[in-house]
Amino acid sequence: MKRVFNFSAGPAVLPEEVLRQAADEMLSYKDSGMSVMEMSHRSKDFEQIINDAEADLRTLLEIPDNYKVLFLQGGATLQFSMVPLNLFKNKVVDFIHTGAWTEKAIAEASRYGEARIIASSEDQAFTYIPDLNNLKFSEDSDYVHMVQNNTIYGTRFTSIPDTKGKVLVSDMSSNILSEPIDVSKFGLIFAGAQKNIGPAGTTIVIIREDLITKDYLEHTPLMLQYKLHTDKGSMYNTPPTYGIYICGLVFKHLLHTGGVIAMYQKNLKKANLLYDALDASQMFHGTVRKVDRSLMNVTFKTDSEELDKLFIAGAKTRGFVNLKGHRSVGGMRASIYNAMPYEGVLALVEYMKEFEAEHQS
Ligand SMILES: *Cc1c(COP(=O)(O)O)cnc(C)c1O
Repeated sequence: MKRVFNFSAGPAVLPEEVLRQAADEMLSYKDSGMSVMEMSHRSKDFEQIINDAEADLRTLLEIPDNYKVLFLQGGATLQFSMVPLNLFKNKVVDFIHTGAWTEKAIAEASRYGEARIIASSEDQAFTYIPDLNNLKFSEDSDYVHMVQNNTIYGTRFTSIPDTKGKVLVSDMSSNILSEPIDVSKFGLIFAGAQKNIGPAGTTIVIIREDLITKDYLEHTPLMLQYKLHTDKGSMYNTPPTYGIYICGLVFKHLLHTGGVIAMYQKNLKKANLLYDALDASQMFHGTVRKVDRSLMNVTFKTDSEELDKLFIAGAKTRGFVNLKGHRSVGGMRASIYNAMPYEGVLALVEYMKEFEAEHQS
């Protein structure tokens, strides 16, 4: 069966080499005689898998020694609870509100304290990133929450706000490992794996050590305490073993292909190809402010919902799938994560040109 070009926003495309290796190792991981799925999480083989995964992620992101790495469950969404439950002291958080993923985090933080929106792009349907130069952080806020790449709207932060020493928390679910980041600028980074890394469910948390305390809110479930998970090395209960294994393969694949800098160069090339095509087109146009365009999720439209539908249907027959935009934005969205090959974007751009020529009024 021929593989498609999968432009899904998540769960998303994985490197073919990784899928092949996983297939090769499905019935017997190395000489264990069993699949990783069937293996005790306390076994030597799995211990090696999780230790390698952490070490490789540390290398890829140059994670400083005073940060812990956790492999948890519950998706990025569970972090919307875990972060306030663990970091709230004054029970105030400042949000830079950039769309659906801050909205959900705001809803959750508001259950335990006060979520203050200190900047927002809601006035223009989240099609831009608010000005970061004049942010007024609350005196009493415990941390600042941002979403680095806005998967649904197709915007991204191209710089990090200067929080003047305040703890910065970033949801990097859809941009982690796609571009270099300076981990030391953040107190806590979290990401669901299913966009740029691996299987859904596995969740990565990178947390600065001074934020790992026993000072969580009362009644915080044990499973939602960072301290418990760091004390137990992500092994308080059975971790998502197979997911961690696939994440580990993806990390090794990235290391073998030049690491994050090389990946960033490839991602820039892919995104530029697609955005240049949009800017040259009379029919298709990008939906967000140019300087804030995401490298991962490219949102675009024609002026007609009929044409959008035709375009998406035609794409499918050519093996380009999951191009329909999020229901809140409409139009199209091409998610071009790390594992989307350049050829996939090139093929999409060629189809766009053909489609435009065929349907010109
Ligand atoms: C997909 C996504 C989420 C939600 O992830 P789940 O794993 O489904 O909980 C949160 N934030 C961002 C930025 C996302 O792209």
